[in-house]
Amino acid sequence: MDKEESGMCRRSHVLVFPFPVQGHINPMLQFSKRLASKSLKVTLSTPIYVAKSSPPLVGSVSVHTFSDGREEEGAKEESYDSYIERFKVIGSKTIAALVEKYSGTNSPINCIVFDSVLPWAADVARRLGMVGASFYTQSLAVNAVYFHVQSGKLSLPVSSHVSLPGLPVLESHDLPSFVVHTESYPGLLKLVLSQFSNLDGTDLLLFNTFDKLEEEVLDWMGKQWPAKTLTIGPTFPSMYLDKRVEGDEDYGLHLFKPDTGTCMSWLDKKEAGSVVYASFGSLASLGDEQMNELAMGLKTSGNPFLWVVRATEENKLPSKFAEEVSASEEGLVVTWCPQLDVLSHKAVGCFLTHSGWNSTLEALSFGVPMIAMPQWTDQTTNAKYVEEVWKVGVRVHVDEKGIIGRDEIKHCINEILEGERGKEIKSNAAKLREFAKEAVDEGGSSDKNIEKFIETLVSKLQ
Ligand code: UDP
Repeated sequence: MDKEESGMCRRSHVLVFPFPVQGHINPMLQFSKRLASKSLKVTLSTPIYVAKSSPPLVGSVSVHTFSDGREEEGAKEESYDSYIERFKVIGSKTIAALVEKYSGTNSPINCIVFDSVLPWAADVARRLGMVGASFYTQSLAVNAVYFHVQSGKLSLPVSSHVSLPGLPVLESHDLPSFVVHTESYPGLLKLVLSQFSNLDGTDLLLFNTFDKLEEEVLDWMGKQWPAKTLTIGPTFPSMYLDKRVEGDEDYGLHLFKPDTGTCMSWLDKKEAGSVVYASFGSLASLGDEQMNELAMGLKTSGNPFLWVVRATEENKLPSKFAEEVSASEEGLVVTWCPQLDVLSHKAVGCFLTHSGWNSTLEALSFGVPMIAMPQWTDQTTNAKYVEEVWKVGVRVHVDEKGIIGRDEIKHCINEILEGERGKEIKSNAAKLREFAKEAVDEGGSSDKNIEKFIETLVSKLQ
């Protein structure tokens, strides 16, 4: 970048607008920090409760907050459908007001990076004369499936296996659950399909993945929108890939309070590669019987385990389980942890995960083998890739009652930590870690794409 361009960068002001759930806030905040580290001014706008315990600056990203009514004491329980509609109205007004606030200052907003599930934001960007970039928080494979449905090439419900360009054959248990069980969450199905409804009105498409991870499907997707498709992941702070970029530290926006001290000092006392880290992310909820089987599987596997059980799930644990395993030093149960620190700790030997896209990307970028226990939404497709495409983990078998039994959990843990298959899995995971590092390193595919994104902004300023 020459001097003139870098001056232009400093004049670019990007407004980042995620849908307020943890799995969307995290990658979009990290992307914001990456842009800020390249001299752009970045403002991330989010509802008040998301940022309640954060300073107005996260790294060098300004955090703007607005009310969506949820922070109020006793805010009413609301369906996703109704919230999504309300969020559209509040979101459009918020974006317009922010653009207005900065116009006439020396840092007017000239780009809106919006969550792909908020495609109406492309119209707002266009109307206000901004560059509009849609940020996709799922894998390219999952995006491709949704795109095929949205464009009418795959009809709903998808009930048998499908063969789509750039993807392995997907059985119904590998497909994103919303396109198979269409009656379960009609509002969420509409939301995920809407991601491809306003592509003509969108200038750039940003995907949180990297080229070598999803080469075949990227090849196909890239041909659909050649000038717009940019892979920019993995987005987490570069310090976790042995680099330190100023302003890129892990100051997060946590919806739950991490128990950092307890987790890290507990891990510090464990042998390298011995710990099973188990977590189901910010939304998934397991049934009582499943929680019990999981608890017994972890306890009897013979390996120390760190298990994140959110406060709303704690009542499903067997009585006194957390106290007993902690006293016997078999395990530690916490309500939330600093996952990036945990996954990058040398004591962690495998990750028993719900296979959310961020968790999957984080684990494979750190070279941590996975036990995939998908629950819903895109997790099933991620699990398929983990086991069969990248071969960096195993997927649990579900019994005829729909339960993953304690013996199956023990078996998977042992297979990864001690079995022959585990050796190959660990070696594949180590290779993917190198590819992830390469992608975000200076001149790597994702780094170059971030530069292209910036060049687009700069060219529109000239
Ligand atoms: N996470 C965390 N602490 C935890 C559990 C999860 O910081 O105890 C973070 C994790 O690093 C990831 C995000 O929360 O970035 C979860 O996103 P994912 O897509 O994996 O799952 P979701 O919550 O959307 O189902």
